Amino acid sequence: MPTIKAVRGTRDLLPPETALWNRVEAVARDVFRRYGFHEIRTPVLEATELFARGVGEETDIVSKEMYTWEDRARAQSEKAQSLTLRPENTAGVVRAYIEHKLGDTGQLQKLYYIGPQFRRERPQKGRYRQFFQIGAEVIGPATAGSESPLRDAEVLEMLAALLDALEIPRASAENEFRGWRLQLNSVGSSTDRPRYVAALREALGPVKDRMCPDNQRRAETNPLRVLDSKDVEDQEIIDALPKIADYLDDASKAHFAAVLDSLDACGVPYTVNPRLVRGLDYYTRTTFEFTVNLGLGTQNAMLGGGRYDGLSEMLGGPRAPGIGFAIGEDRLILTLQALEEARAAAAGEIAVTPKMDAYVAPLSVGQHAAALRLAHELRAAGLAVEVGDGSFRLKRSFEAAERVARAIVIVGEDEVAHQVATVKTFATGEQRKVGFGELAAVLGE
Ligand code: AMP
Repeated sequence: MPTIKAVRGTRDLLPPETALWNRVEAVARDVFRRYGFHEIRTPVLEATELFARGVGEETDIVSKEMYTWEDRARAQSEKAQSLTLRPENTAGVVRAYIEHKLGDTGQLQKLYYIGPQFRRERPQKGRYRQFFQIGAEVIGPATAGSESPLRDAEVLEMLAALLDALEIPRASAENEFRGWRLQLNSVGSSTDRPRYVAALREALGPVKDRMCPDNQRRAETNPLRVLDSKDVEDQEIIDALPKIADYLDDASKAHFAAVLDSLDACGVPYTVNPRLVRGLDYYTRTTFEFTVNLGLGTQNAMLGGGRYDGLSEMLGGPRAPGIGFAIGEDRLILTLQALEEARAAAAGEIAVTPKMDAYVAPLSVGQHAAALRLAHELRAAGLAVEVGDGSFRLKRSFEAAERVARAIVIVGEDEVAHQVATVKTFATGEQRKVGFGELAAVLGE
């Protein structure tokens, strides 16, 4: 029979790699806690309209990449509805903010999430159809300070702290290509942006026919996306296009200057990239991206985000300015693996999987119950314990134990009768008798 494989663009995450995923998530949760963020979990399934309105019909995500289907009604009381597997989570978080009237508290909401997102992209290293994002949003009524440039700077400084906590190096002047780099820009307020888009359209008019088909299409549907283009031949035309900085009003300029000042004060390095506009329709003012040139190949964007002061209103909610980001967790993991490989190679180390504390080996099937009970007690004391099989010969038990654990605990008829086990610690070769009552303490040393 033919076997069934994981769907193209999706993958299984197996141990020991999952331990690294858990470590990254634990570090992220701890950093978020220290900055006053709390977790939000929104559904993977959302109404298609949420993304059409929130992310924008003309974006690549909505126009080409969503997993969308017409969900049949199952009962008279239900209506058929177009559903989508979420391609990103900001729209969902803002929907929840509106739906649960979180703005009524009058407080700033600091929310983070960790979970899968779905986009029908061309799979390659660092780009999957199911991928994971770790993201956060700061949103609330303007009276709670949600519009303040302090919030932008705090979010960026938190990201720097998270990458530092994960020991991903910062790119330095000497070593520009070996670490993370923050690029940021301002795309202006909701009034600056249409003026700029109109100017872009006008400037693109006479030159767009000389551009690649993708850019010709973007020039019509979403001119900002032309600035994101990596097409080598079009770069000269793109560089000559109007710059958003020349279209910012005084308030947007002051906002951006205040963000940069705070980053300087906190020692967060950055580059202003006037072409960084990002693909989603909801961004206003600050937009940013962190890139890393470690283990990601061409997919070097590790995280992106920005301010979205009008998103809540676009979704029918109250005015609720906000700022957020999403880290590509898959790419973060690839980066950490590349760093670890480089470190181990430099130190001449061979990769070792961490061992369990003990392997309890019953000498015969008659001691199965006693061995399980002893393992239960050791596990209850917090130790990681494997239990062997009494049908194995002793030699095989030792081999099995040495593969997975730091010590073997032998449980034979005598041991059970006297409540004393024979323990051998592999690192030292030392073998001794230990009373069942002392075992947890001895093995935990
Ligand atoms: P975006 O929501 O497009 O701003 O993406 C934020 C981050 O998510 C990017 O910087 C990537 O690290 C990650 N990301 C986006 N799309 C994918 C994908 N198809 N596969 C893996 N990671 C992705």
